[in-house]
Amino acid sequence: MDTKICIRELNKFYGAGERKVHALSNISLNIAAGEFITLVGASGCGKSTLLRTLGGLEEYSDGDILCNGKMVNGPGADRAMVFQSYSLYPWLTVSENIRFSRRLKNKRENLTSNDVEIASGRADALIELMGLNHVVNAYPSELSGGMQQRTAIARALMVKPDVLLMDEPFGALDAQTREVMHDLIRYLYQLEKTTVVFVTHDVEEALYLGHRVIVMAPRPGRIDSIIDVPFGMDRDQDLKLTPEFNQIKREILQRIRETSGIKTNLEQLEKLTRQSDSI
Ligand code: ADP
Ligand code: MG
Repeated sequence: MDTKICIRELNKFYGAGERKVHALSNISLNIAAGEFITLVGASGCGKSTLLRTLGGLEEYSDGDILCNGKMVNGPGADRAMVFQSYSLYPWLTVSENIRFSRRLKNKRENLTSNDVEIASGRADALIELMGLNHVVNAYPSELSGGMQQRTAIARALMVKPDVLLMDEPFGALDAQTREVMHDLIRYLYQLEKTTVVFVTHDVEEALYLGHRVIVMAPRPGRIDSIIDVPFGMDRDQDLKLTPEFNQIKREILQRIRETSGIKTNLEQLEKLTRQSDSI
């Protein structure tokens, strides 16, 4: 399979002196074209840093990132991002938000009527696909969280990116809406065959969506393990109830607990409460 993204010996530091943080330590990873990768790990292990670096929004200290064989050293239309907070323009309607594309705007003077027609057709198709027909003229503040996020995803897909980078996109949604979004994103993925890198702290979400789950660990931020998810991509919610699914979920949770120091903190807490009991 073709390699879409190649990350080699990537390191990233924030700050200097005593405040220096080794946010990414020797990250090496090849992501195949059309692969759905999920990054999971405790808070602070560098998931967002890695994603922003892939998106070209963050400089890296050393190492290489290649996308389609070209060095990544800034944002590009080949990589679209979706964040947890709905980064929609509040003064634009759903339709305008989706149609607003910086790439199209930059090239406005060179656009042919054919380009405009194609873009408009794609916008209509995405609106239909995301079930936003009845709210095309609404403003973001009038929408539920799920609808806002569907609009943000449609907007990201407008430019037909090679890679879709998502940072906890469903983190602010309730559990039920999140399940609907999972199946929607999987459906979209099957249609568009985009390469996806999806960050989450929710192990179940990571396992349900990904071909491979990359488990990260903190201090320094690094790849702890990589799980090849042994289920085909034809999945449904019942998969989450199977023993196989839950076994892998437990193993990942265990790795996260062991590497993040959560267990140590709990032990310390127990010791403290025992001490206070005896006072
Ligand atoms: P995650 O998304 O997994 O929670 P982040 O990538 O946000 O982790 O953060 C990784 C580490 O880098 C953390 O220790 C965090 O405090 C630090 N960090 C993130 N962003 C910055 C920044 N802009 N300046 C300094 N330190 C940062
Ligand atoms: Mg984060």
